[in-house]
Amino acid sequence: MQGLMMQQPLLVASLLKHAERHHSTQEIVSRRVEGDIHRYRYVDLAQRARRMANALASLAVAPGERVGTLAWNGYRHMELYFAVSGSGAVLHTLNPRLHADQLVYLIEHAQDRVIFFDLTFLPLIESVASRVTSPKFYVAMTDRAHMPRNHGLGSRLLRYEDLIEGHRADFEWPLLDENSASSLCYTSGTTGNPKGVLYSHRSTLLHTYAAALPDSLNCSARDTILPVVPMFHVNAWGLPYIACMVGAKLVFPGPALDGKSLYELIEQEQVTLSAGVPTVWQGLLAHAGSQNSSFSSMRRTIIGGAPCPTAMTAAFQKGHQVDVLHAWGMTELSPVGTVCSFKAHQVALPEAQRYALQARQGRSVFGIDMKIVDAAGKELPWDGYASGDLHVRGHWVTSEYFGGEHDTPLHDGWFPTGDVSKIDPDGFMQIVDRSKDVIKSGGEWISSADIENVACLHPDVATAVCIAARHPKWDERPLLLVVKRAGSTLGMEDLLNFFDGRVAKWWKPDAVLFVDAVPIGATGKVLKNQLREQYGDHYLQAR
Ligand code: ADP
Repeated sequence: MQGLMMQQPLLVASLLKHAERHHSTQEIVSRRVEGDIHRYRYVDLAQRARRMANALASLAVAPGERVGTLAWNGYRHMELYFAVSGSGAVLHTLNPRLHADQLVYLIEHAQDRVIFFDLTFLPLIESVASRVTSPKFYVAMTDRAHMPRNHGLGSRLLRYEDLIEGHRADFEWPLLDENSASSLCYTSGTTGNPKGVLYSHRSTLLHTYAAALPDSLNCSARDTILPVVPMFHVNAWGLPYIACMVGAKLVFPGPALDGKSLYELIEQEQVTLSAGVPTVWQGLLAHAGSQNSSFSSMRRTIIGGAPCPTAMTAAFQKGHQVDVLHAWGMTELSPVGTVCSFKAHQVALPEAQRYALQARQGRSVFGIDMKIVDAAGKELPWDGYASGDLHVRGHWVTSEYFGGEHDTPLHDGWFPTGDVSKIDPDGFMQIVDRSKDVIKSGGEWISSADIENVACLHPDVATAVCIAARHPKWDERPLLLVVKRAGSTLGMEDLLNFFDGRVAKWWKPDAVLFVDAVPIGATGKVLKNQLREQYGDHYLQAR
């Protein structure tokens, strides 16, 4: 017997309709590329998104066609999130930190018809435009007053505000098939060529529901959310959609991601919840520490994309009374997979145990199932010790990559994440390493993430990266690269002694190299493959 309930497709535009109807006066604040602060309300967002949807139709963007964006976090980018997907086209968020050659590859691969860009990226667009054939138009996300006179794009260059002004706001969002594509994001390619992940309206909506829950990212109409994680990287972890669903105030940082600018925006707009990768928060904590400043409104911060070191969790929680929500996910998961929220019996645990728990990436949100398997594919126990390849499945996990040139990534219906993990009896997953980064010493595994976590506890260590270096006897041994805090005279022996009693003896790195900086990739993560190329022979050369 069939149920007798209404059938309503799960559509991205319905989030905007809800926000306009039920949270019309809630604010969206953006630091613009032009330098000033812009503010308006959800009702304005909805109206301008409809104008932009009409503009897209006038540019002959057909349903299913891709529209690229090369933009910071801001209100115009947010309008495109809804105008493009809502009208049936596919929003392709391009990462402006990529090299021009990679952008050429991605634009052609996705066959973007129109590309919208923030003015910051005009030189990048100019260098790419002559090498791509698919885009018919480029749209500078600015107004007449800020439009540069000289550019190399000729009549193909349009102005965003002209498109808005030139089109009416009476657009009916089409009733699309909920399984149709809504947006496209390529993996950052730290582990190979970028692969396109094609989200659907349905997967996006289900992800939005689940990611907003109290034990997930915990968002509500009482929040003021600052997504520092870029809108060009996995849809800013879904926060633009979540904000519409719950009616939260949104604050967009634009291009100003340094500690001082972020701190000022957080205080000025009374942000309650922020989200970003650990490298960004280092800058914010350094600024707050140097000024002896505290946060007057911020109470939670979501940290993910890379392991959050315990030292960072402690700096936020003890130093600033800001709770850390450690989360794990990936482009292929839209991205939220697990979040480290305590269960009832863990809340009153002694501090050290709570910190140890928070170093884990957390438990599955409903909609994602996970398991760990050994090399033969056999499922391993959730005992907190056994570690194996992490596989996931769920409503917002990719089933195949865009373009069809890759084999199906699935194994028996599960998606292998490329991460090596363990899971404790409470269901808390901990990333031991990426399978490409794990150190295999004499046939046993060493977790580079654990080594880095310990090194970061040393007060003189600003950044620590542990890589596998080839070794004549053990195949591989851990090599630690460290950026010291300014003025520190820390030596190798002192740092190595710091590991005594904190990790198993054979896990202790054999050497430390002090470096000025480590290379950071386009999504804010350390480029370990580059470091392995540079330093991977250290123990061979040392002989
Ligand atoms: P790419 O794989 O191209 O770097 P993603 O941004 O999708 O692109 O990265 C996903 C990967 O990032 C995960 O597979 C995992 O290795 C890592 N990751 C994400 N969150 C965390 C976290 N909290 N702790 C450790 N690693 C994480």
